[in-house]
Amino acid sequence: MKGPVLRVESLSKAFGGVQAVQEVTFSVAAGSICAVIGPNGAGKSTLFNLLTNLYPPDRGAVFLRGQRITGLRPWQVAQLGIFRTFQTSRVFPHMTVLDNVMVGAHRWSRAGLIEQMLGMGRTRSEEAAMRARAFALLEVFGLSHRARDPAEVLPLAGQKYLELARALMSEAEVLLLDEPAAGMNDAETLELAQFLRAVQETGRTVVVVEHNLSLVMGIAQQVVVMDAGRVIADGVPEAVQRDPTVIAAYFGKAGRA
Ligand code: ADP
Ligand code: MG
Repeated sequence: MKGPVLRVESLSKAFGGVQAVQEVTFSVAAGSICAVIGPNGAGKSTLFNLLTNLYPPDRGAVFLRGQRITGLRPWQVAQLGIFRTFQTSRVFPHMTVLDNVMVGAHRWSRAGLIEQMLGMGRTRSEEAAMRARAFALLEVFGLSHRARDPAEVLPLAGQKYLELARALMSEAEVLLLDEPAAGMNDAETLELAQFLRAVQETGRTVVVVEHNLSLVMGIAQQVVVMDAGRVIADGVPEAVQRDPTVIAAYFGKAGRA
């Protein structure tokens, strides 16, 4: 068993009177899939925003491979190897599907992105190699026949897969996925589960916020349950599912299982 790749210590964040994230502490083992679940408003997206330094925390810190990343800029966090997707998909609608994937190669480095837009900053062979890689990723997700179409023509599931392809293009070690199955039907969700397993097989660590419990329980080695900003359970899926606190606070109340 490898050590933790990600360590979260006493992370807290309030918005006005709302304690969105409160004393959240957990670690994620390298190469594992960790699911973060909890009812709406539990603080899951805020946690992701804190992990990527989109907001500064009020208290606490985040460590990537033992290195403190709290206080760094979001693009620095990305460059160190954390890539995230957002709850609402963020594809560039008028850019081609292929170019949307290639954006991932720059891990949000602003200079890199602008250079790419202007077609500068890399040699033709580098560019060709990147295109080939992006295309190969689109093949994995069954989207290669759409490579030259504008991303806006993709259905929602396709846009979510496109974001996964982009995340893989980044070569980031840790992927944070915020509700990747939102809006997907059962068949698409099943397919997503297979994709996530495939992502894990590439050696990456996946932290996924997800409401679909059958998806989560089927693929995660660790489940962190949040409620009202706090972690109320953290363990293997089988144990978390049987935890009376979880049953009362989440399964009972939210009824989303
Ligand atoms: P989840 O993703 O688990 O549904 P969120 O992290 O989005 O939960 O929200 C947790 C709480 O923090 C909610 O009460 C939400 O209204 C509040 N919140 C989240 N982001 C902001 C923000 N930028 N400004 C003010 N309140 C926020
Ligand atoms: Mg959310």
